[in-house]
Order: sequence, then C-alpha cells, then structure tokens
Amino acid sequence: MFRRVLIANRGEIALRILRACHELGIEAVCVYSKADADAPYLRLADRAICIGDAPAKDSYLNISRLISAAEIADVDAIHPGYGFLAERADFSEVCRDCKIEFIGPSPEAMRKLGDKVECKRTAQKAKVPIFPGSEGEVEDEEEAVKVAAEVGYPVIIKAAAGGGGRGMRICRNEASLRTNLRAAGQEALAAFGNGAVFIEKYLEHARHVEVQVLGDKHGHAVHLYERDCSVQRRHQKLIEEAPAPGVERKKIDQLGASAARLVKHAEYAGAATVEFLMDANQDFYMLEVNTRVQVEHPVTEAITGVDIVKQSILIAAGEPLPFKQRDISVNGHAIECRINAEDPERGFMPSAGRIEQWEVPGGPGVRMDTHVVPGYRVPPNYDSMIAKLIVHAEDRDACLRRTARALRELRVGPIKTTTPLHARLMQNSDFAAGGVDIGYLERLLK
Ligand code: ADP
Repeated sequence: MFRRVLIANRGEIALRILRACHELGIEAVCVYSKADADAPYLRLADRAICIGDAPAKDSYLNISRLISAAEIADVDAIHPGYGFLAERADFSEVCRDCKIEFIGPSPEAMRKLGDKVECKRTAQKAKVPIFPGSEGEVEDEEEAVKVAAEVGYPVIIKAAAGGGGRGMRICRNEASLRTNLRAAGQEALAAFGNGAVFIEKYLEHARHVEVQVLGDKHGHAVHLYERDCSVQRRHQKLIEEAPAPGVERKKIDQLGASAARLVKHAEYAGAATVEFLMDANQDFYMLEVNTRVQVEHPVTEAITGVDIVKQSILIAAGEPLPFKQRDISVNGHAIECRINAEDPERGFMPSAGRIEQWEVPGGPGVRMDTHVVPGYRVPPNYDSMIAKLIVHAEDRDACLRRTARALRELRVGPIKTTTPLHARLMQNSDFAAGGVDIGYLERLLK
C-alpha cells in the first residue's frame, strides 16, 4: 500500500481524495497555486506545496512542477482527480517514467479509451453499440458530406480531442456542414492543440445515461450501474441522478455488461465512465469514455455503497477488486446538484468573490462535497463549481423532496449560485415525472 500520495488537483475533489487517503492510512500531500494559498483544506494535508501562479498552465497543468513537488515530498503515487491533467496520457507516462504510480489507467489504456476516435474503434471491437458516423476522423469536406448523406441529417461535428462540451457543432443540412467543418477544425486546433474532427449522427431528444465501471490490474472489471445526466446547459451537466428513471432494468444490465466488457478489452485499471445517449426506444449508443473519476461519482457511491475514490487508490496499489458483479446491488435513489458560483438570472455569469454567508444543509441522507467555508474567496481562475449537494433516499419521490428540503437549508451570499435554479427544478413537474432529455433545461430557460 502507498505511504504517501500527492493530490494533483484543487477544490472539492482535492478534499475528497484527501479524505479517502486518510481513511486508508495514507499521508496526503496537497499542491496549490498562489490563488489557492488560503484554501482551508490545505490545513488538513500532511504537507502542502505551492506549485506556481494562478493560471492553471503555471500550476495545476504544469507537469514538471507537479513532478518536482512529488519528488520533494517523496510520494509513491499521484491522484489527478478530474479535469486538469487527469486525462493526459503523457502525464500518466511521465509518472511511470519517474517511478511514481499514477492513480488512473496506464497511458496505453488511456489512449485506447480517452481519445474519442480511438475509443470508438475499441468499442466496435468490444461490440459496444456506437453512433453511426465517420470511420475515425474526416480527412476532407467531400468525405464529410458523403458520411453525412449516409447517416442522414442532422449530424454533429466533434473535435477528436474535445471535452467539456466544447468543439461541437450541429449541422442540419449539407450547406451548414460545409461552412461549419472548417471552423470546427480551426476551433479544435486552437482549443485542444489538435484540429482533427469526426462526424456522427445527431440524436434529437436523447437522454444522457452513463455507466460507472471499475477495472483492476488483474483483469477483473465490474460496473456500478448507471447515472442519468440529461439535465445540461451548453452540453454541461447540472444535475445527475441514479438510477436513471424509467429505463428498463434489462437494458441497464446489458448496458452495464457492455461497459465492463469495454474496460476489460482495453486492459484498463481504475475508475472509468462509459457515456451513452439513449433514444426514445431505449436504444443506446456510446458517446465516449471518461478515463478518470467523474464529478458525479457520489450518486453512484450513495446507491451502491462503494467508495469509488478509495477503490481507485487500492486498484493503483495493485489490490484486486474486493467484489464481483453479483455483489453489487442498487439501494434507493440519489441526486446530485452542482452548486456553481454563477448567476442563473444573468446568463450564468461567473460570480467570484468572498463568501460571507455559508450555511450548509445536513440531516439524514444529505452529503455536501465542498471545500468552501464562511469567508472563503472564490478565485476567478478556475471552474465555477464550488460544491456538490448529494442526496440519498429510499426512492425517487423521497429523494426529490429531500433535495428540495436540503436546498432550502443551503444559504449562500453575497455571491450568486445555481442554488435557486436547483430549487426550481425540484418543483418542476417535467423533472419530477422523470426521464427528461438533454434539451430540457435549455427549453425551460428560454
Ligand atoms: P464532451 O467530451 O465535450 O463532454 P460528449 O461527447 O461527452 O462531449 O458530449 C457532451 C454532450 O453533448 C452530451 O451529453 C450530449 O448532450 C451532447 N451530444 C454529444 N454527441 C451527441 C450526439 N451525437 N447527438 C446528440 N447530442 C450529442
């Protein structure tokens, strides 16, 4: 087992990983940028090391500074969390070269599943259903037009290296495909350093349903069932829940089995999420694989009782998975609300600054994953998510009521957050009915 782990991240996920380390008897080394020097969770770390200035490229994205910190602190392993370097195969590779265990997949497995184009090829081999679309990246305009004619409009252009909902364009006819193709390539090059794009069928009114999986270094893989993440704005998730309301259990079992098969096929060790879109017939098509722990992992923890972050550490340390598929069962319902420092009344404008009032909910079934305390100053440099409210109850109705109750207890000021929007959604009859599609929130906000 590891003696000491470096957490190459910040905010709530850094604290989440620190807690898992301490429960496993592992020392936790935190790193921080100058913008996070006063972050309260740093006081809980066994050691905290400043790695540079506020811009992420000078700190949390700076591989050489992170490796230096890891060597100074003499750690055995690095946990990347999500975002920043979590899905960079070169980082996993540098860690291996430096004889530091990367808590996540090998660079080979990450490349097989992390690159959207490569992942679709791997999925095809593992017989996981994928979207109809281009066989890999499209080389030129004529190829794109040909593929789109075959699969039928609308189609979506995506950046092979894309992420965070960026670099996607929906095209409803050939003219729009031709105009968007070049712009999409240029945008992808500017944003991700890779101009490759591919095309797939655009599914209207789909639901986003994803499967959590865990693979170990001994060739075992299990799935921990699904999450529904259809409540999105600009392709970014805002609410996640598990199980997915109204989906046939037989379908979910098939879906879970195919996700576990994919991970096994890629010889993947660690936590991963296989994302699917589901159509009105409850048929599934794989979107992509996230080769890391997800923001929304706690809803799965709530319904399965499995500590995904601890498991990711144990897997990296070479431990076999302590359970088989038949040992995993689902208990009740869970909902996560992302509390972002944004003003939903003003186009979700970022609302950074000092938090004077911070009263957090509690009571049965309520979990707050956050690094915020009263007086905390939200730095303007990073993602706007400041907390996750995770609520668990015996069934979905009880969970909705409990979430509404917890949201009433959450008091934040003077900065603006997504809390009032969540409260509104908990009262919304379409959301309450269950099974909204990925266009639901934007239609509601119009
Ligand atoms: P990213 O890696 O940028 O998050 P994803 O491929 O995971 O991109 O897609 C994010 C979201 O974009 C999905 O949850 C869905 O809302 C929308 N989307 C992506 N591909 C399609 C598609 N083929 N049809 C319809 N919606 C899509």
